[in-house]
Amino acid sequence: MPIAGFTFAGLPTRVLFGEGTLGELGPEIDRLGRRRALVLSTPGHRVAAERLAAGLGGRAAGVFAGAVMHSPVEVTEAAVAAYGAAGADCLVALGGGSTIGLGKAVAIRTGALQVAVPTTYAGSEMTDILGETEGGRKTTRRDPALRPATVIYDVALTMGLPARLTATSGLNALAHAVEALYARDRNPVLSLLAAESATALCAALPRLAAAPRDPEARARAFEGAWLAGAALGGTTMALHHKLCHVLGGSFGLPHAETHAVVLPHAVAYNAAAAGGLLAPLEAALGAGGGSVARRLYDFARAIGAPVALSELGLAEADLDRAAAIALENPYWNPRRLEPGAIRALLGAAWVGTPPE
Ligand code: NAD
Repeated sequence: MPIAGFTFAGLPTRVLFGEGTLGELGPEIDRLGRRRALVLSTPGHRVAAERLAAGLGGRAAGVFAGAVMHSPVEVTEAAVAAYGAAGADCLVALGGGSTIGLGKAVAIRTGALQVAVPTTYAGSEMTDILGETEGGRKTTRRDPALRPATVIYDVALTMGLPARLTATSGLNALAHAVEALYARDRNPVLSLLAAESATALCAALPRLAAAPRDPEARARAFEGAWLAGAALGGTTMALHHKLCHVLGGSFGLPHAETHAVVLPHAVAYNAAAAGGLLAPLEAALGAGGGSVARRLYDFARAIGAPVALSELGLAEADLDRAAAIALENPYWNPRRLEPGAIRALLGAAWVGTPPE
């Protein structure tokens, strides 16, 4: 049997992890040799972004609070203009994957260095991936220049993460770990990270469903998200991510919820082809009856995640088109892409039927 080779480019991003680490932001900007940061956020995080900018004093160039999901190019263009007008020389993205995505989109157009301050479990801060939408289509690109220079994980910022977003964003992270476990270009280091990520998330998310302000569980979930992002950032995504990109980019479905619903069905589709590669996920889910996909479905339901695409606003009439778009520029996948089986997967996810 030929030896499976791999390329491992290391883990290039500097990470500060802890509670109260946001206090390191100013010194971190100095360390990067930058002087004036434009702080990015969603409209809902404007007050927090303005407070952060005020705390940075002369190191803040202003706030752009226009980030929205799926990185529409029009929003990026407005943020690039704000970056230039403010005389900024770096970016601070305070928020979830949408804000961090905006930071990446501005950085790739301006050369700005980024400090990411995540507040969800999306994991985007650790990847070299940017998904952008234009004209109803989501395109995804990878470039080392998209990576933030520094990521500051401050557990305090996640204490108030709403219950539903905790569950769905946690499953978004788990999806990264799952697809890294069976990625064609996996390697022993990233497989360890993905396995540890699954262990952390499967332990922490049920604890957070019961006690959302449990600091230890918050820290464990954040570690899981970090490791999931790092694993995704070094491997290529497969069918699960492709389906979610289509459902988000072409049908406007919410990102984390879509991941939460699709993941058990994607695992059902791939489990046999992935063979033992999903063993760390099985171990993380603990003892229980049924297939790994069924146990994942039960896990998602137990932590309060949605289980049906119909709940997220997708029309049944759109399923054929979603399956067709997913097959247009397919990603590599452990199991061959079978149009009928993919349409059936989407149908089951739309209804919310548990996978076998
Ligand atoms: P989000 O960033 O869109 O945030 C969802 C909502 O939650 C927003 O209104 C936000 O203001 C709010 N929010 C964020 N943190 C909060 C907190 N701590 N407390 C209360 N409210 C909070 O959601 P997301 O799921 O983090 O990110 C989704 C986006 O990230 C998508 O556009 C997706 O494409 C992208 N993404 C990219 C990658 C990548 O590697 N490129 C990976 C994962 C996700």
